[in-house]
Amino acid sequence: MPAISSALIIGGGIAGMSAAICLREIGVDVHLIDIDPEWKVYGAGITITGPTLRVMKRLGILDSILKDGFVADGVLALDPQGGLIAEIETGVDDNEIPGAGGILRPALHRILRDRLMALAPEVSLGVQAKSISPGSPKVVQFSDGASGIYDLVIGADGIFSTTRTTLFGDALAPQYVGQVCWRLMTIKHKQINRRTYFLGGPCKVGMNPVSADLMYMFLLEPMTAFQRLPDALLHVRLAELMGPFGGPIADARAELGPNSNIVARPLETIFLPSPWYRDGTLLIGDAAHATTPQLASGAGMAMEDGVVLAECIAQARTLDEAFATFMARRWARCALVVNSSLKLGELERSGASPIDQVRIVETALRELNQAF
Ligand SMILES: Cc1cc2nc3c(=O)[nH]c(=O)nc-3n(C[C@H](O)[C@H](O)[C@H](O)COP(=O)(O)OP(=O)(O)OC[C@H]3O[C@@H](n4cnc5c(N)ncnc54)[C@H](O)[C@@H]3O)c2cc1C
Repeated sequence: MPAISSALIIGGGIAGMSAAICLREIGVDVHLIDIDPEWKVYGAGITITGPTLRVMKRLGILDSILKDGFVADGVLALDPQGGLIAEIETGVDDNEIPGAGGILRPALHRILRDRLMALAPEVSLGVQAKSISPGSPKVVQFSDGASGIYDLVIGADGIFSTTRTTLFGDALAPQYVGQVCWRLMTIKHKQINRRTYFLGGPCKVGMNPVSADLMYMFLLEPMTAFQRLPDALLHVRLAELMGPFGGPIADARAELGPNSNIVARPLETIFLPSPWYRDGTLLIGDAAHATTPQLASGAGMAMEDGVVLAECIAQARTLDEAFATFMARRWARCALVVNSSLKLGELERSGASPIDQVRIVETALRELNQAF
């Protein structure tokens, strides 16, 4: 018997859906709410690492990811003109799991949602938690006037989590890291056949296939204070930033125009001190540990949180025991991702040698390949 019989999950993103899947699998009654009445996901492509594919297998979605996404082993590090700097090995200790890949965010969202809905959770959309009572069990009042009683409340409401503010106040807020992430969705260029980084230029650039015919490019621009550009100027500024690059980036630049699918957003991060719980409510995913994207592991960590939480709950006699084991298993691994990503961002902004950047990626990936 698990230590609890019911859970409210606030936020139906990657972390919330993963936790919901795993808690339903051990027999917990799950009520998942999301603020978005349409339960949509925004953004284009997402890169997935070997460890992320491993947790996807555990969640029962690997076959769908392999069908709808793109996978290939290894990461290429190229110079700004497309010359080889290094080839980074990827892969986990499981022959069924490729070393790396990518998928469209809406496809990943659909795959997780379909897997979850097959397990019959209760889902309420366009709804927020207005208040959470102290003590146990927890009485939650919702924005639609309804209420519910739960053994456990999970805040999986992302980097700007209001559950976090309710638990810990607003002194702990996401911090801007001095880089803007540009993303361009485009058709897959023939020569981009795996995750590819371009290092040593004025900006770090990456190209990642996300399906048989699509890829996205990201470009990390150093910027001391974020300034938003009007949408009509995004392609002009992105073309300027891509100007110093040759090879596939020059090809992609030649295709830019006013209708290009471009997003630019400031990179922010937050890593909560331990513990990520208070009085029967636990934060998971970006609500607790939102990383910058250099290691492409934020989604993987969010999914692992869900898997580990359900394992801890299944094995513990009390919720407090489950929370303590959860923190012991998640803390160092999430810190590794957040801190290595921040270190990479610093190196990118200071123009450090590409090989120094490659070494940090290799070391972090090696550690993440260890079982979680
Ligand atoms: C630019 C960028 C690129 C990235 N690229 C990658 C990558 O390539 N690979 C990778 O692994 N990771 C990547 N990440 C990280 C990854 O996107 C996140 O780590 C992941 O989405 C976290 O999932 P989450 O469920 O915790 O949060 P989210 O995905 O943000 O989901 C939060 C959910 O909560 C809901 N919600 C919000 N507020 C409330 C509320 N008050 N009440 C109810 N519901 C609420 C939202 O509607 C949403 O559905 C990237 C991040 C950024 C910023």
